Amino acid sequence: MRQTIRKAFKFRLNPSSEQVQKMVEFAGANRFVWNKALAINLFRLEHKQSLLWYNEMAYWLGLWKSSEEYGFLKTVHSQPLQQTLKKLEKAFKDGFDKKQPLKRIPKFKKKGLSDSFRYPQGFKLEQDSNKVFLPKIGWVKYRNSRQVIGDVKNMTISRKGGYWYVSIQTEYESEILRYVSTSMVGIDMGITRFVTLSDGSYVEPLNSFRKLSKKLAFEQRKLSKKVRFSANWKKQKQRISKIHETVAYARHDFLHKTSSNISKNHAMIVVEDLKVRNMSKSAKGNIEKPGKNVKAKSGLNKSILGQGWGMFVSFLEYKQAWSGGDILKVNPQYTSQTCPSCHHISKNNRKTQSEFECEECGFKANADLVGALNVLERGHRLLACGVETLVSSKKQEPVGSSNTNLLLTA
Ligand SMILES: [Zn+2]
Repeated sequence: MRQTIRKAFKFRLNPSSEQVQKMVEFAGANRFVWNKALAINLFRLEHKQSLLWYNEMAYWLGLWKSSEEYGFLKTVHSQPLQQTLKKLEKAFKDGFDKKQPLKRIPKFKKKGLSDSFRYPQGFKLEQDSNKVFLPKIGWVKYRNSRQVIGDVKNMTISRKGGYWYVSIQTEYESEILRYVSTSMVGIDMGITRFVTLSDGSYVEPLNSFRKLSKKLAFEQRKLSKKVRFSANWKKQKQRISKIHETVAYARHDFLHKTSSNISKNHAMIVVEDLKVRNMSKSAKGNIEKPGKNVKAKSGLNKSILGQGWGMFVSFLEYKQAWSGGDILKVNPQYTSQTCPSCHHISKNNRKTQSEFECEECGFKANADLVGALNVLERGHRLLACGVETLVSSKKQEPVGSSNTNLLLTA
């Protein structure tokens, strides 16, 4: 059984000042058209005349555009204006109630409140370079916090609290939900533990990875002692590429199994945004005081799982899309240094690679678990306000998130 899933993704835009100017104009023109057409219909209602529906309103729109007085409407892309009229038509239709005609009459739009307009087509989305193309406005950068999945049906631009946002509506086909899990989980990706979940469980890299990478290092040393392009050298080279193949196969298998297990059990998965993580140098695999053993183990795992995290996230992404679940990406900065209990941020909270002890409130836990808890909390924030905010003040009240509390007492 398959179903069509509709999803909405909302991102904050980073427009240039000229683009902001255009968005203000566009929103203004759309507000004008809405109010104007609404006024005509209210007048007609009052005088017991029939309402104008979309086609007639669109005819009026054409007249306004060619008039001198409202000629400014010509500078605006016409499709959002038509969309506004369609929306007005729908608002009138929705307002009709069989018992009480026009129970809810559409309202006039005020400047600065409901500033928005919608493109039904003509837009483009480039997720890799974090930008959207809006007709007559151009390419606008956006804060890419999660992967957009599905075919984009329309884009709505809106303003709230001084910021501009784009809402992207998509549709895709998926299998009927295979699970009813509604749990949300945060994931920390690391070296000694490949993933740690905010529910306390974790997955270590396979033992075979260690063996394989030792073997690889050994065979590579052997290769370096052979004469380049000699028969023996070629033979050795082949042996090495065989090992590489085995490694790739084992890694692929491992990543598939790990991502399937997590996807099966959690409807909403929050992960670190690897793009952001790779950019910051103080990235978390930051090994401050590792024991010798940890360091050696890390090095080996790192060599094999180096590219693994990206692949892991993309597996999770498509598995979640397939099952109707979701995945959120959050800023990973300070997730390993922030206290989940009191929010105090300090390098000193991280005692060793694996130990976390808050210097402020004394909260103790495994460092990777702390990372996962913080990732989860950022996911909650992202869902609650659409925009992620970093906690920077230590005066912040402890969060009462039930997930966190459960773990703190566990
Ligand atoms: Zn603390």
